[in-house]
Amino acid sequence: MPQSNTCVKTAEGQVAMATIPYPDQPGPGQAIIRTTLSTICGSDIHVVDDLPVPAGVPMGHEAVGVVEAVGAGVTAFKPGDRVISSCLLCCGTCGNCSEGQHSVCSSFNSPGNLLFGAQGEFFLVSGAQTTMAKIPDNLEDEQVLFASDIMSTGFAAIERAEIKAGDSVAVFAQGPVGLCATAGARALGAGLIIAVESIPERQAMAKRMGADIVVEPGEAVARIMALTGNRGVDIAVEALGHQVTFENACAVARLGGTVSSVGVYGRFPVLNLPTSGSFIHRKLVTTLCPIGTERLRRLMGMISGGKVDLRPLLTHSMKISETPAAYDMFRKRDGGVLKIALRP
Ligand SMILES: [Zn+2]
Ligand SMILES: [Zn+2]
Repeated sequence: MPQSNTCVKTAEGQVAMATIPYPDQPGPGQAIIRTTLSTICGSDIHVVDDLPVPAGVPMGHEAVGVVEAVGAGVTAFKPGDRVISSCLLCCGTCGNCSEGQHSVCSSFNSPGNLLFGAQGEFFLVSGAQTTMAKIPDNLEDEQVLFASDIMSTGFAAIERAEIKAGDSVAVFAQGPVGLCATAGARALGAGLIIAVESIPERQAMAKRMGADIVVEPGEAVARIMALTGNRGVDIAVEALGHQVTFENACAVARLGGTVSSVGVYGRFPVLNLPTSGSFIHRKLVTTLCPIGTERLRRLMGMISGGKVDLRPLLTHSMKISETPAAYDMFRKRDGGVLKIALRP
């Protein structure tokens, strides 16, 4: 069997490089991809630290590459195609997929339907026919990489809040997903965009991604209320996964507005809905990254059309073989790190 040098979870809180086998010939519906660009996501940290995922699983779910081989039934792709895979797998035919809810496809247990193994030289994609998309020739790997996960998630935080042209949007926390929500708010027609962030590099990046104003977390509620004439914002996005940012997002969503939660509350078994004052006549939406061929095609269309450029988020570059060290850097947020490009 061929082998791949891949980052694997070795114990709770730990990863290491390991040589793992992958099939010569992929099974029905599967494709083997040779990685050309990968990265680490905040949810990788949850998989390693907090989630009940067993040791031994190969890590990584955000990557682009070249098709090495396809299994039976995979007719949309052939060896040599440049492709991007969504971070979650979908079959295209189960009940949830038939309803257009591909991110909650019920056909895989990898565990869950998360893609695993993209932080390796090669990775296997199940449901390849509907999970992957070809990358247009005019787009570089670096331009499209985030369509697999954080761009789709960040944009969906705005889309699921049913943005209207000119809406005011506050985005709490400008980590990678929050920055994508900020970029999504601009691309999708927000009027005023207020970013909440304390780290200077992230404040600067928020402006670059489209924030009109950046406020410090400690004064966010008061500043946002003042900036909106005490009305509150139409859409308040929570992109950190902490109780306090969730409460603050609730506090600044106007009457009739929407709280859109995309943070992963991995360490918190309970999330309290604040009722001080009142929490009436708001909508609360949560979102799992929208996925699949058609979603990828639309997002790459926005990139190709020059509506969004997320390449500045790739602040660092390392080799795939250095992925465990990259986890340390990503975890500690060393040196203004946002996203680390991992290359063969
Ligand atoms: Zn992710
Ligand atoms: Zn499905």
